Amino acid sequence: MSEQHAPLAPSAAGRWGAQCAGSTALEAANPEAEKSQDAREGDASHWVGATTLRDLQQYKQARQFKIGMSDPAGTILDKEMLEGAEMFVDTVVEIIGSDALDTIHVEEKLTMHNLVHPVNEGTPDVWAISGGTHRAIPSAEIYLLDYKYGHRFVDAFENWQCIDYTAGVLERPELANIPWENIKVRIVIVQPRCYGRGDQVRHWETTAAKLRPYFDQLRNNAYLSMGPGAPTNVGAECRDCKGRHDCEALQRASESAMDTAGLAVPVRMSPTAQAVELRMIQRAQELLKARATGLEAQVMANVRAGVAAWRGRSRRPKSSCLVICTAWTCAKNRKPSHQRKPSNWGRPPA
Ligand code: SF4
Repeated sequence: MSEQHAPLAPSAAGRWGAQCAGSTALEAANPEAEKSQDAREGDASHWVGATTLRDLQQYKQARQFKIGMSDPAGTILDKEMLEGAEMFVDTVVEIIGSDALDTIHVEEKLTMHNLVHPVNEGTPDVWAISGGTHRAIPSAEIYLLDYKYGHRFVDAFENWQCIDYTAGVLERPELANIPWENIKVRIVIVQPRCYGRGDQVRHWETTAAKLRPYFDQLRNNAYLSMGPGAPTNVGAECRDCKGRHDCEALQRASESAMDTAGLAVPVRMSPTAQAVELRMIQRAQELLKARATGLEAQVMANVRAGVAAWRGRSRRPKSSCLVICTAWTCAKNRKPSHQRKPSNWGRPPA
């Protein structure tokens, strides 16, 4: 679900809340020009899942979606989108129970104004509360189910986005008089297209009381990030940061990473040293990749706008290189002959 309008979006909580408070300002200064095709496909599959769940809540049966239909944004549905949505819906029904589906909240907004920050709010795919003060010992369960359509592995354990959402559920009046020790939290990630690393459905069970240190960290970083001079800190989250092409910290880290990659490797290394070296190089690669993808998008935008010259790794012959070379010096050679400057221009007539 898109949360791009919230200054402190839960979908970026791993970045501003856990790694880099300074990313909020840099991302705000570099909004995305348009959604990627991957993001549109993810939205379409989410729409199928959410619509199916709402149908089940209201009518006890869901409408049929078919390949080739389109979502409200015009994205054509394909088999993967439908199968992914089906896995998400099945997981929700299995965990919540088909008779309790009317208790779930599908894409309903939560605000974390008290526990985190007044501009921290977002929309989980599905959340629910069971239990309450009517029990002999007041207690409750919170369910947070998040559907991920991408391929990159997303863990349920210490998932900052869902931790942030949990803060929002805890602000609900239904839970006001229940001690946090008595509130269980179940976070579920459904990721149908992530193969080869564990299950496609992942769970993390904890309690609200155990999440308190995480809320404190989110709160501290949220206030830091919305204030002046928030510090930046490079790490894995840089790869998705919209300000990565503009970030001095990442630029320095990339330069240092390039130096690291150039060091001579000792001839005899212990297995531990090899593992450490490998991790260092992998981290360096991640930082370089984040920096490279950020710069690539920026450079291409500049080239399209005609304000920079750059020849990438295109293997196309020069004659077909019309977009990349708009501002490249070879452009003059592609002009029709009647527009070319004669070689004797500037010479006085004989
Ligand atoms: S690129 Fe990395 S270090 Fe720079 S602002 Fe973004 S998250 Fe922070």
